[in-house]
Amino acid sequence: MKSLRDLFRIGPGPSSSHTIGPFAAAKAFKALVGDDGFDHIEVVFYGSLACTGKGHHTDKAIEEALKGIRVSFSYDIKTKMEHPLTMTFMAKRGDACIQKATYCSLGGGALYSEDDPKVNERDIYPFANLKEITSYMEEHHIANFADFCREFEDKNIDEYMTAIAKQMMASVRLGLRKTGQVPANDNPRLQYYRCASAIKHQAEGLTGGEGRRSMFITAYAYAVAESSSSFDLVVTSPTCGSSGVVPSLLYYSHVHKKTSIAKIKEALYAAGVIGNVVKQNASIAGSVGGCEAEIGTASAMAAAALCALDGLSPYQIEYAAEVAMEHFLGLSCDPVDGFVIIPCIERNGMAAVHAYASYLYAAIIAPIRKNQVSFDDVVAAMKITGDSLSEEYKETAQGGLAKVLESNC
Ligand code: SF4
Repeated sequence: MKSLRDLFRIGPGPSSSHTIGPFAAAKAFKALVGDDGFDHIEVVFYGSLACTGKGHHTDKAIEEALKGIRVSFSYDIKTKMEHPLTMTFMAKRGDACIQKATYCSLGGGALYSEDDPKVNERDIYPFANLKEITSYMEEHHIANFADFCREFEDKNIDEYMTAIAKQMMASVRLGLRKTGQVPANDNPRLQYYRCASAIKHQAEGLTGGEGRRSMFITAYAYAVAESSSSFDLVVTSPTCGSSGVVPSLLYYSHVHKKTSIAKIKEALYAAGVIGNVVKQNASIAGSVGGCEAEIGTASAMAAAALCALDGLSPYQIEYAAEVAMEHFLGLSCDPVDGFVIIPCIERNGMAAVHAYASYLYAAIIAPIRKNQVSFDDVVAAMKITGDSLSEEYKETAQGGLAKVLESNC
């Protein structure tokens, strides 16, 4: 299992696998090839990067990483690569290729390359799943996931997680401040004006109860999702497309319950462990496993964080994460025209409210009824389900809503 530093990254939206990953790949290739001997770089996109790369502004992310270098792009939607998010960089002098490297964007900004192995992430946790983790915690009398992670991460991990917590709060605040249109193409159905602050305003007018809380949480999730769609900085949690879910609940707690950043940082470790277990055993990329991989995981992480904030036991944290994930199994990824406006922004709001309900289940139902499905079970089911989903539903903008509302892939 990898470091939490490889799960929580700060970067521009709208899609970690289509922006942060390719940005990092371009930087890595530039370092690999050095400064001399070529006059331009050609990039070939395959699979989901070819289908939805334009809508996700993958080309812009790479141009930004390779500023000052002439870059050209081609989109190969026919060739089937082993990984759906594959890109090949070629440094060329005239027609001659000086150096070439292929990178796979694994989701959440992570990369894999046989040609450039320094980008590959390292395993630092010697555990295969959540059962092994919680057994280790019991054996070693470790009461919470934060202390567990500190045993394996480097000594500066608390600083890093504090920065992540602060960026999450900042992303919500920014999204609540900003107005205007979210960039998209001319498809009239994709014309979208930011509405997070208007939703918050509506929530303020409600009188108490769960409805009011749900609308605040929704407003905060929209705030981040709208920012992510507009290339603002967000935290991959686990991805940019699903980056509104975890911060929404934490921001609610921070503002409405005066929870400190230090406590939020501690709760983020529980979210991180849940995200890491999915990343190791299934996938956190919509292009690999459908939206269950992104929104399902984000909802499970958020539910886990909320339980940790409330001091619930590791069993209850697992319970909440399992419930959150189980009811998103089979969720398709069908961004209209390849833009993360429909269904993604609204879906962040729904997943946040669902995470809150999952936390309530863990707090209220877990003590009176044992869960018959473990988190590892639901992750195994998620992998099987994601593998058997048709390619149309894996961020290719070719099926579902994308088809009904006219995809131009
Ligand atoms: S539909 Fe889900 S997985 Fe697909 S881009 Fe949107 S949030 Fe990500």
